[in-house]
Amino acid sequence: MSGFDADAIVVGGGLAGVAAAIAVAKAGLQTIHLAPAGPPDRRTSALMVPSVDYLRKAGLIDDPAALGHALTQIRIIDATNRLIRAPETLFDAAEAGMAAFGWNFANLRLMERFHAAAAELPNLETRNAGATELSGASITLADGAHLSAPLIVGADGKKSLVRAAAGIQARETAFTQAALVCDLDLARPIGGASIEFHYPQGPFTLVPAGANRANLVWIDDRAVLDAARAAGPEALIATFLEKSQRLFGAITLASPAFVFPLSTLSVDSAGADGVVLVGEAAHAFPPIGAQGLNLGLRDVADLAAALAAIDRSTPGWANRVSADYAARRAADLARTGGMVDTLFRSLLADMIPAQALRAGGLWALKLAPGLRRQAFAVGMGNR
Ligand SMILES: Cc1cc2nc3c(=O)[nH]c(=O)nc-3n(C[C@H](O)[C@H](O)[C@H](O)COP(=O)(O)OP(=O)(O)OC[C@H]3O[C@@H](n4cnc5c(N)ncnc54)[C@H](O)[C@@H]3O)c2cc1C
Repeated sequence: MSGFDADAIVVGGGLAGVAAAIAVAKAGLQTIHLAPAGPPDRRTSALMVPSVDYLRKAGLIDDPAALGHALTQIRIIDATNRLIRAPETLFDAAEAGMAAFGWNFANLRLMERFHAAAAELPNLETRNAGATELSGASITLADGAHLSAPLIVGADGKKSLVRAAAGIQARETAFTQAALVCDLDLARPIGGASIEFHYPQGPFTLVPAGANRANLVWIDDRAVLDAARAAGPEALIATFLEKSQRLFGAITLASPAFVFPLSTLSVDSAGADGVVLVGEAAHAFPPIGAQGLNLGLRDVADLAAALAAIDRSTPGWANRVSADYAARRAADLARTGGMVDTLFRSLLADMIPAQALRAGGLWALKLAPGLRRQAFAVGMGNR
């Protein structure tokens, strides 16, 4: 660490950033985590079994059932008036020999657990200050301090300063659609089933949040969502009743509604020259098929693997870590980004060939066990 303030500096205090800081410190590196306090993250995350297994192995959570809600089924309802409609499709975890596909967690609760795990590590120092400038291994902080480390981990989200300073090219496409999220209480509970109503402008999804509660993720044109939110609680509930086809009886709002803009973002490489990117600094896409944080946690797992494989007693180790990490992440980032992009565009496509393909695809998934197994594997992020 000679001449440096730490072996590694992790920039960004979202879920991917805290998980990365813990992984880097657990690999034995003297670590500084720049995590400026921000507004609470009121989203929820459906995390599939491989992600939950990683969180348990990394000591970030214990029993997932004590913290989140099991997802045992995925039900897809084609709610379009299209010429060619898909069949209603039900995926059951039991079919794949599993008790659950994964668990749905409140991000705030995950964050509490991650912070508790971070506090246990004597070689991890967390600072409530952001980075304002980066130059090579040196970082200027918002409080005027200067820090340096051979390895810089950018976990600073879609607008990543670390990525820009490292000269790593990113491509971002903004959508006219956004996502409205809120918690709902339903008269008829959905059990462990995630229910997706597929409308022409995007899915309206109810995710199990325990007992009668569901987390809603509604994707539609931003203007439609803003207008629905502005119309007030009564009108909003009337919209939700209509969108859920009144399948779950009366609905009450259990939280305010928030609207998140949507875009896709991909990078040429997830690491170079002693800099690695994790989470949304490296990839972003619409919340379809619950992939974002799942992919972010796979970034962290690969960063831990790259650090475990390196001999840090030789000069240039951080450059070798970033190159190894980028190589480990390339295929997964390309595959997952491509899958979500195709899914999102096919859900929104108005063209008849796309409708036919999608309907045909869902029929095939409904009927062919081999295809269903393959779809499970891709959606679960199995390698
Ligand atoms: C509506 C919605 C639903 C979703 N549902 C799911 C789901 O079910 N399952 C799933 O896997 N994923 C889901 N996702 C995706 C998931 O929420 C994200 O992938 C994940 O939260 C990204 O975490 P992150 O830490 O990479 O980024 P962020 O949470 O954006 O964190 C970035 C952090 O960096 C900080 N920062 C920025 N600039 C600086 C700087 N210069 N210095 C220091 N810090 C800085 C910010 O303050 C912020 O705290 C969903 C996303 C949305 C929008």
